[in-house]
Amino acid sequence: MNGLNKSMYDIGSDSAFAILARSQELAKKGNHVINLGIGQPDFPTPPNVVEAAIKAIKDGHHGYTSSNGIPELRESVKEDFYKRNKVSIDSNNILITPGGKSIIFYTLLMFGQPGVEIITPDPGFIAYKSMIDYTGAKAISLPHRMENDFSFDAEELLSLINNKTKLIILNSPANPTGGVVPEKELEKLANGLLEHPEVFILSDEIYSRILFDKHKHHTLLKYPEIKERVIVLDGWSKTYSMTGWRLGFGIYPKKIFNYAEKLAINCHSCVNSASQFAGIEALRGPQDNVDNMIEKFKSRRDFLVNELNKIKNVECKKPGGAFYVFPRIKKNKMNSNEISSYLLEKKFVATVPGSSFGENGEGFIRISYANNIENLERFISCLKDFMNE
Ligand code: PLP
Repeated sequence: MNGLNKSMYDIGSDSAFAILARSQELAKKGNHVINLGIGQPDFPTPPNVVEAAIKAIKDGHHGYTSSNGIPELRESVKEDFYKRNKVSIDSNNILITPGGKSIIFYTLLMFGQPGVEIITPDPGFIAYKSMIDYTGAKAISLPHRMENDFSFDAEELLSLINNKTKLIILNSPANPTGGVVPEKELEKLANGLLEHPEVFILSDEIYSRILFDKHKHHTLLKYPEIKERVIVLDGWSKTYSMTGWRLGFGIYPKKIFNYAEKLAINCHSCVNSASQFAGIEALRGPQDNVDNMIEKFKSRRDFLVNELNKIKNVECKKPGGAFYVFPRIKKNKMNSNEISSYLLEKKFVATVPGSSFGENGEGFIRISYANNIENLERFISCLKDFMNE
């Protein structure tokens, strides 16, 4: 295929979607497949949110909206952001997008090019590295180690910066580990970045509402010294169980907002209007569904961590957020890909191999506990069988 732009050969994919497709194939053949592979809550979208979308359609909101999102939605994002973070943002700097992923895509198109270095979490969400590779920039791994509760070390991060570094990607609470970066590490980073005034940060805060125990969210926008170069990504997919509605947002510094908006105009034009009306209701309406979901996630996490650590050669940290656990599994000389494939093909349990999230993910598998407790119990029993074979 000589006609294709050569960057097309560098773009990666998301193995969670390939695993989902394979799980569906196995299920079609009559197997009972437990899907712990895909990262989407197993709860319905709250009914008041669904009703708001239906009303919007009935009220005739069927046309294009402004490319950055309807003003009332941007206002509700601003209000919610203030309520949760005590940080004021300008609603003119908010870009509403079809899912949070578009913010990753647009931001990497804005910063990535050959000769540029972009620091990205390892293990980290697959789309970061795929898109860095696509732009021709060089991805520099920022290790998030189990020994460090899957957080990063600010000094190590600062030591990776050089004059080619244009962007740092951070994600807390994190996919795939559930790790939460402590406030002190963020403070050290914000201070250290004063010496690197050209470097921007993309802070992926899509799991910021899904936190357990004493963990609190600290948005990177709360540090005045770096505020003008922080891009925040967040959205409705995880918090309100709205993955299929395709609704997310980015908060861009004023000086680069126009570029992000131009990419949006050239690509998606605007997000479908019914989803946007649903988004307003999600933020302004009752929050009990979110609270209930987090409570359920917490008890599933506790169950899994407890049971996993009882199995010989399996070691699992208790993550502070998101809905994933990331245990280290030692089984003969099998790598994470082999373990995950075996679990899917022979035990009919879908997980994602840690290596697909970066070199530092080797030896681990990602388990999404967006599934009911009965299935999690079955998974534990399958894993025990596998480890004993
Ligand atoms: N960022 C992270 C860390 C994610 O895990 C995901 C989805 O899995 C996204 C962004 C994208 O979310 P959305 O479905 O809103 O595009």
